[in-house]
Amino acid sequence: MKALRLLEWKSDPVLVDVEEPDPGPGQVVVRIGGAGACHSDLHFMRDLEPGLIPWQLPFTLGHENAGWVHALGQGVTGLELGQPVAVYGAWGCGQCGRCRLGTENLCEDPAAAPAFMGGSGLGLDGGMAELLLVPSPRHLVPLPDGLDPVAAAPLTDAGLTPYHAVRRSWPKLAPGTTAVVVGVGGLGHLAVQILKATTAARVVAVDTRAEALTLASEVGADVAVPGDADAAQEIRSATGGRGADVVLDFVGSDSTLALGAAVARSLGDLTVVGIAGGTLGLSFFSVPYEVSIQTTYWGARPELVEVLDLGARGLVRARITTFALEKALDAYAAMEHGRLEGRAVVTPQR
Ligand code: NAD
Ligand code: ZN
Ligand code: ZN
Repeated sequence: MKALRLLEWKSDPVLVDVEEPDPGPGQVVVRIGGAGACHSDLHFMRDLEPGLIPWQLPFTLGHENAGWVHALGQGVTGLELGQPVAVYGAWGCGQCGRCRLGTENLCEDPAAAPAFMGGSGLGLDGGMAELLLVPSPRHLVPLPDGLDPVAAAPLTDAGLTPYHAVRRSWPKLAPGTTAVVVGVGGLGHLAVQILKATTAARVVAVDTRAEALTLASEVGADVAVPGDADAAQEIRSATGGRGADVVLDFVGSDSTLALGAAVARSLGDLTVVGIAGGTLGLSFFSVPYEVSIQTTYWGARPELVEVLDLGARGLVRARITTFALEKALDAYAAMEHGRLEGRAVVTPQR
């Protein structure tokens, strides 16, 4: 079968022929219906320093996957051939306290996991191929009625990651509060919807692209602010001068981190999700009093179940452009050059 594989860091992935996977005991093969293209893949292709993450190359890209159960290894029960499933992509050791709770994204024994803090498409073969080998049925969540694999695929990361980030700030998002979403791409346009569906906060969206601000308004943002030199002032005035209770930064550059620090309200959360590699100097006076600064990494399996429920009920819906596997590089090019609306999903079966 064909697979889109990252052969070297800081280089374009290549479509090559690979062996079809055969499920060993306890394993499952999923026929991929949709594999989302994430900006993290672009970081691997462009700017992530080799050696920063200890993954063996090559591997097949694609860490946002959904499809149908294709083959069951010996001893696997509870799944049926042809059943639609979403893949929970963070594959931990399965044994530590975090993994037992389904928080495999924060596995505490990554040396015992199949890849260090990785999973499908992150150090191990992912879903940008016809078939995906999944090491355990615990990584599969049956799709609820109302969600097909193409719609579900982005929810496993572009949905799950902001859901996890929003969820940990829920106590700070009471009526009368404001949440700021910086970067309204794949993750950000779902973050806006997750905030609207699960909190009463006013949502301010920020992006440097006019099309992204239009999308933000279409999916429910109360205010859309251009990401220029006036952004901080505009956000402050949109909050009656108080500032934002929660800032979710889906870019993570020097300038967006500085923006977050400038608009945060005292007691607020500044959550960094984007991995553009920016830094923020921290001192007692560099952020308003009692602001919590945090990073988040992906999400937990139980949270994926919740995101899929929001998706099935139509409360959170990815704006999707599909690409054939042979055209997957076009999806990344569109993302890189700011021509993508929402998420690109690669569909290897078409
Ligand atoms: P994307 O390319 O789809 O969206 C990024 C958006 O940010 C675009 O709309 C772009 O116009 C906008 N943007 C860029 N610079 C900006 C600026 N200075 N101010 C305001 N907006 C700006 O990317 P994505 O797939 O949504 O991923 C977003 C980031 O999150 C990436 O860095 C990705 O690697 C990271 N990510 C992190 C996790 C995690 O677990 N922490 C998970 C998935 C993705
Ligand atoms: Zn991702
Ligand atoms: Zn673990």
